Amino acid sequence: MVRTGISRRGPAGGRSGQGRKSARRGSFSSTKPSALPMRMCQSCGKRAPADALLRLFRDAEDHVGFDLRRRAGGRGAHVCYSRKCIEEAVRKRRISRALRMGGLTCSADELVEHIGARLLEKIRHYLALSQKSGRVVSGVSCVLRALKTRKIALVLTASDLAENSRDRLEVGCRAAGIACRALPLNRVEVGRALGRSPRAVVALPDGPLVRAIVQTLENFGSISSLFRAK
Ligand SMILES: [Zn+2]
Repeated sequence: MVRTGISRRGPAGGRSGQGRKSARRGSFSSTKPSALPMRMCQSCGKRAPADALLRLFRDAEDHVGFDLRRRAGGRGAHVCYSRKCIEEAVRKRRISRALRMGGLTCSADELVEHIGARLLEKIRHYLALSQKSGRVVSGVSCVLRALKTRKIALVLTASDLAENSRDRLEVGCRAAGIACRALPLNRVEVGRALGRSPRAVVALPDGPLVRAIVQTLENFGSISSLFRAK
């Protein structure tokens, strides 16, 4: 599980120019103005608020990593949460140039896998935080009951949830007008994230964590096709 293969190739000279495409006008449409600075994808040139793009950084040991919390200092390279943009940025050496590195020894697949693993960590972390809040409902029968009686904003299902339970939950969520998303975690992993026994379903009340989980799942979905294909 531990990634070790992403490192600097050595002192091979790289051009310092960015070689970016100019940003397409109107390529990002947001209804809410963001307080965050705008950044540009190294691959497609899309401009977006910093948190809508993934940030890669170069650590003290000249490794490239995904700056999950956007707090790593120093030079960063932004790329869309998209398999295509990551592949292009690696292939055209835009990441190594932006980070002023000679080159990357990692492939796009390795980078995507690293990013995916960090996003999964983030999802597990959000589940743990939700559990700590004490307002989480888990288990199929408890969630089905809660859909009728409690204020639930989001239902999350484990990847190995039984088909008939999934159907019942989807019908229940539709009737209650509640979003239902599949987690890229099985019931053992979901239970572990919650600090409990295996859980096939989790329901959360409305709040910032719900929005953060939905966004992270979306980002994960955008880049995960590479390792699903394996
Ligand atoms: Zn892009």
